[in-house]
Amino acid sequence: MPRRRTGGRVDLVGAGPGDPGLITVRGRDLLARADSVFYDALVPIELLRAARPGARLMPVGGEGGRRRILQERVNRMLIRAARAGRRVVRLKGGDPGLFGRVGEEAGALAAAGVPHAIVPGVTAALAAAAAAGIPLTHRRMASAVVFATGHEDPSKSAASLDWRAMAGAGTVVLYMGVSRLEAIVRELLRAGLAARTPAALVRAATRHDESILVAPLGRIAGRARRAGVRPPAVLIAGEVVRLARRSPRSQPPLRGRTILVTRAREQADAFSALLREAGARVLESPAIAFAPPRSWAPLDAALRRLPDYRVLIFTSVNGVGAFFDRLCARRIDLRALHRADIICIGPATAAAVEARGLRVARLPEEFRAEGIVKILGPRLAPGTRVLIPRAEVARDLLIRALRKRGATVDVVPAYRTIPSGEGTAEVTAELRAGSIDLVTFTSSSTVTHFIDKFRLAGDRRRLRRVPAAVIGPITAATARRSGFRVAVMPRDSTIPALARAIVRRPAWSRTDSRAL
Ligand code: SAH
Repeated sequence: MPRRRTGGRVDLVGAGPGDPGLITVRGRDLLARADSVFYDALVPIELLRAARPGARLMPVGGEGGRRRILQERVNRMLIRAARAGRRVVRLKGGDPGLFGRVGEEAGALAAAGVPHAIVPGVTAALAAAAAAGIPLTHRRMASAVVFATGHEDPSKSAASLDWRAMAGAGTVVLYMGVSRLEAIVRELLRAGLAARTPAALVRAATRHDESILVAPLGRIAGRARRAGVRPPAVLIAGEVVRLARRSPRSQPPLRGRTILVTRAREQADAFSALLREAGARVLESPAIAFAPPRSWAPLDAALRRLPDYRVLIFTSVNGVGAFFDRLCARRIDLRALHRADIICIGPATAAAVEARGLRVARLPEEFRAEGIVKILGPRLAPGTRVLIPRAEVARDLLIRALRKRGATVDVVPAYRTIPSGEGTAEVTAELRAGSIDLVTFTSSSTVTHFIDKFRLAGDRRRLRRVPAAVIGPITAATARRSGFRVAVMPRDSTIPALARAIVRRPAWSRTDSRAL
């Protein structure tokens, strides 16, 4: 047996019903610190982005009949990982304790002496009820609610579900029942529920493809069959379903829209979150990734003579991160910067500097070279030393303008952008299915690198047919030159402004939302 290491453990975490915002804070924290994540088919894939970059992510599926064998293997994998000293998160859809086999897994961990805990989650019944506006209990209509499975383990002793008792209890919520819906309804009717009992079938609750079907119990199976409702769905039956929201929910503006985010992974979060908040389904497929510069020597040399610089210019959030990380790694005191004015090209870059406790000089009105030269004004005397830590390859307008004023400018690479293949297969499939409504570009280099991700001319053509949302005029020009139609451009070149402009895009209101 391999030598046991200490510190290993397993947390059995509920991922919630589908909306990545519906995991608990503790669940997310554990995910962010995990060394290994074993996840089920129903777990929202976006959540996996909360794991740290080096974490091992392992799908352990769990469909139909193969599951039994798989279960013992999963147990063994969990135990082995924990014994190797890893912090393991076992991520399960909804709540781990409801039809989630947590009993088997926790039992196996206990038997193996592996420390473990269960972190609850929002189960499908609760999410579905909330989505449909149904209170599961009600002072006058139902004082109890039953959660049951419509898909019984065939090996369990016969008739373990007492439908009669269930039907009399109040509200009934059935999981895993789509394929057997007709039989389930028949049993409920035989057990004494009236055919006119209000019922709701809620599919993919809280996901972008959520749908809700409300009908009398006697008719709901036929309606579901005709509408082609596929799993996952829960059936809610009982008087409380009368209170289901009549009018369609006030839909968030981007509901049913799929939007492609091409920013580097480190930068995508805030932008994607704004789009998701507005109801969009966001596909992240970075055009580029960040890597360390080919050599640290120029930056290190600049860091050694920091007190000589009078001006320090940052042109991106990423440059700020790379610069201060290196400063820290070289154990250089922040006070070495005390004589430099810090200039930033945009508000997000300035916020990144200020978050480190340093004040930024006034922001330029124009986020371009001309604007920076203007605000530096008299500080740009001949011989003024200026440091610009930035990407290895970048535009040179700024440097030329500064040198023209006599400044001594050191431009040092703090990071490098490299092409990223992440998410390409997924996006290709979505392009071929015609399901992408908008592609977003937040810099010229993302436009060109993004097109390069697709090898086949047909896929590139499909991509160019998707309307583009761009951050500003330079990116717009590159996008047009690359064959895109620019459909959205905000007046201010910032991420929040771009997100707002996307939400307000007039074309959205002219076409019907696909989700309805
Ligand atoms: N542990 C999970 C249930 C796993 S069993 C939980 O607590 O939710 C899988 C069943 O859950 C599916 O067949 C379906 O009935 C239900 N389900 C899971 N996610 C759902 C969703 N987003 N909307 C509706 N039903 C869902």
